[in-house]
Amino acid sequence: MEKKNIDWSSLGFGYLPTDKRFVANFKNGAWDGGTLTSDATITISECAGVLQYAQTCFEGMKAYTTEDGRTVIFRPDLNAARMADSCRRLQMPVFPEEDFVNAVIETVKANEAYVPPYGSGASLYIRPYMFGSDAVIGVKPATEYQFRVFTTPVGPYFKGGAKPITIRVSDYDRAAPNGTGHIKAGLNYAMSLYAIVDAHNQGFDENMYLDAATRTKVEETGGANFLFVTKDGKVVTPKSSSILPSITRRSLMQVAKDYLGLEVEEREVFFDEVKDFAECGLCGTAAVISPVGKINDHGKEICFPSGMDEMGPVTKKLYETLTGIQMGRIEAPEGWIREVR
Ligand SMILES: *Cc1c(COP(=O)(O)O)cnc(C)c1O
Repeated sequence: MEKKNIDWSSLGFGYLPTDKRFVANFKNGAWDGGTLTSDATITISECAGVLQYAQTCFEGMKAYTTEDGRTVIFRPDLNAARMADSCRRLQMPVFPEEDFVNAVIETVKANEAYVPPYGSGASLYIRPYMFGSDAVIGVKPATEYQFRVFTTPVGPYFKGGAKPITIRVSDYDRAAPNGTGHIKAGLNYAMSLYAIVDAHNQGFDENMYLDAATRTKVEETGGANFLFVTKDGKVVTPKSSSILPSITRRSLMQVAKDYLGLEVEEREVFFDEVKDFAECGLCGTAAVISPVGKINDHGKEICFPSGMDEMGPVTKKLYETLTGIQMGRIEAPEGWIREVR
């Protein structure tokens, strides 16, 4: 496979159109078979459900080149299941999970020249999404939908080492109890933009959101779940029905238990106990784990013992083991690596 002439290491996290994308349409109560197209644009009604009432959800995952030259995707079946959950909550038709995985594989295959080579640190980001495409003016679900998958090559998340970040406790809420925090809906991101721009303006990298009802428990950031490490080496992640169930976080918890022999706990985490943890990280597809060095709570700082120079030791082991599994250097649990070819 002849790769495109791209300077992989200088890529950022941006949109670079690739050759093909997958499109399927839902009409008269059924999905068509879907097809690959070269057309990167969409023409829809000015009154489309997505434009008027934000009826849309998405997924995100990556394809990599392994050490032995295979093109693989990390756990796309979990993205398929999560997107089905998102669709049900938004009154959108589910794109069948098996068809979702096949569409993702087909799209990656068609753009294999854009899957960055092993060792570049770059990867091919995959973005499946769905939206209500026909006209809706009274508040109700659309009757026609489009499901699409595009890919775009993205650079190494950490250029020159993973430097710990500083986050702040946000005064804004991300998700209401019994709301939509647990699904990957565009609407959750639209309303987080004000808070993240404000955080950046104040010199912080991310917002830590607390539970909206009591503001005493840790939820997540705008786009990543928390992992904490206790001083005696236990890995703890917050449990809440308004957290988006990160596939990276779920995988890291299993890695902690089965590969590193660590104790793991998914439970409510009170903000009051955060000061007692030894390490803190943010988990998501983009970075796998981004180490957090400092949390600012309205001027009061929590500084983790792992410091501001590098990842804490447990975070680092988790990061290296999971990226090792993804790149084919470490044997993966059954079903985690889906080969494209
Ligand atoms: C996508 C997302 C994550 C990370 O999930 P991964 O499956 O690990 O990429 C975490 N939080 C939110 C709010 C998200 O939208």
